[in-house]
Amino acid sequence: MAGISVDQLREQVRGDVIAPGDGGYEDARTVYNAMIDRRPDVVVRAANAGDVIAAVNLARENGLDLAVRGGGHSVPGFGTCDGGVVIDLSGMRGVRVDPATRTARAEGGATWGDFNAATYAFGLATTGGIISTTGVAGLTLGGGIGYLARGFGLSCDNLVSADVVTADGRFLVASGTENDDLFWAIRGGGGNFGVVTSFEFRLHPVKDIYGGPMFFELDKAADILRFYRDFIQDAPEELGVFPAYQIAPPLPFIPEDRHGDTFIAMVACWAGPLDQGERALAPIHDVAPVVAEFVGPMPYPALNSAFDALVPPGLQHYWKANFVTELTDEAIDAHVQHGPKVPAVNSTMHIYPINGACHRVAADATAFAYREANFATVIAGMWPEPAENEANIAWVRDYYDATAPHSEEGGYINFMAGDDQERIKANYRGNYDRLVSVKRKYDPGNLFHLNQNIQP
Ligand SMILES: Cc1cc2nc3c(=O)[nH]c(=O)nc-3n(C[C@H](O)[C@H](O)[C@H](O)COP(=O)(O)OP(=O)(O)OC[C@H]3O[C@@H](n4cnc5c(N)ncnc54)[C@H](O)[C@@H]3O)c2cc1C
Repeated sequence: MAGISVDQLREQVRGDVIAPGDGGYEDARTVYNAMIDRRPDVVVRAANAGDVIAAVNLARENGLDLAVRGGGHSVPGFGTCDGGVVIDLSGMRGVRVDPATRTARAEGGATWGDFNAATYAFGLATTGGIISTTGVAGLTLGGGIGYLARGFGLSCDNLVSADVVTADGRFLVASGTENDDLFWAIRGGGGNFGVVTSFEFRLHPVKDIYGGPMFFELDKAADILRFYRDFIQDAPEELGVFPAYQIAPPLPFIPEDRHGDTFIAMVACWAGPLDQGERALAPIHDVAPVVAEFVGPMPYPALNSAFDALVPPGLQHYWKANFVTELTDEAIDAHVQHGPKVPAVNSTMHIYPINGACHRVAADATAFAYREANFATVIAGMWPEPAENEANIAWVRDYYDATAPHSEEGGYINFMAGDDQERIKANYRGNYDRLVSVKRKYDPGNLFHLNQNIQP
């Protein structure tokens, strides 16, 4: 090794340094998607920004691959590598809320569960994902789509500043006033520009919401998707709602004789005044007879964790994604044909709305380029048995092939598969060249390449 050794690193850092043969190595190398089976040379469980700097320097000086892990949810498994160094931020999950300025600072390994629990205590929230175990870091760096996006924009639109360790081991603040090119790039550009050790977010008054899932019969799917397409165009921005193809899990609110049947569901979150929730959801609720529902007032963090049990760690994952501007009748026909074939209770297809506040940010104001798209679709294949990989991957690919011709060329990078690297340029459209030049400035050697990579 040209630079320091792993043993020297153990002396330098406060957190754990875990190498093959050490206790806990199997756990330390494992990521959420069980399809990913990689063996890094060393995993650094950072305790602070200094540990991150030491690990970045170790990787760069020794010419080693470097993977960065926040919540570990990357479907292509970018949070681990064969050989090389993993920086695992799961020990850095603190969240500090400042109610006076309505901001919160989250460390680089916090999950949305950590974040929402901390902000809920103050009656505040910002846009995060729909599952509580997803990392704040990866989700925000790629954009960040969730229930609150129509009202408050993407997660990255709520970023005020970030602390970033760059490839040369420097610690930089990125904000509107400091290193603003870096700040621009990390709002949608993914993990390409450095390790973010903390994120400062703008918060909004959201505490308890009115919402939950409603299940409808499959033969109503076309009506529901057409209704959704039109309704969401000018629905109040306090309302987040998306359709989903979903096999009914064995939950008490679903009639027992319907467990295992496939439905089209609408999952809603009304973040306005609670007493207006029922009225706000009525058009969705009344679009067709509801077979089962779990809708009512609940804490926002409760909705954020309501579906966690459907997606435990250790499933096989294969996903595909597209942005959609017009949800045409042809696109809906393709959904109606492929959605009902969803092969596993964990798998799903969602069509998230990204209009409202997301549209009010210019396409070149942040790296996230698809600002006039109305929807982000994800075909999320998730299943327990490796023996079923072929059938499940085929469902995702067939569904994608049928819907892609009715979609934009680009797809949301956080929903894309590892075999989608050739679509990265399309994802960033007119922002791509600027991203390349920021990459050249902050990471000319492409140390941060285990991601949806922007090559310098
Ligand atoms: C079950 C599930 C539900 C999801 N739901 C949503 C959703 O509702 N909305 C949505 O927008 N997305 C959603 N996603 C996609 C999610 O945004 C991506 O998987 C995202 O990459 C996860 O971030 P992470 O920190 O958990 O992942 P990781 O695997 O830890 O990291 C993923 C990427 O981010 C980079 N990265 C991670 N941490 C840092 C850091 N601190 N500094 C710099 N780079 C870092 C890594 O290099 C890697 O490229 C979901 C994914 C899953 C599996």
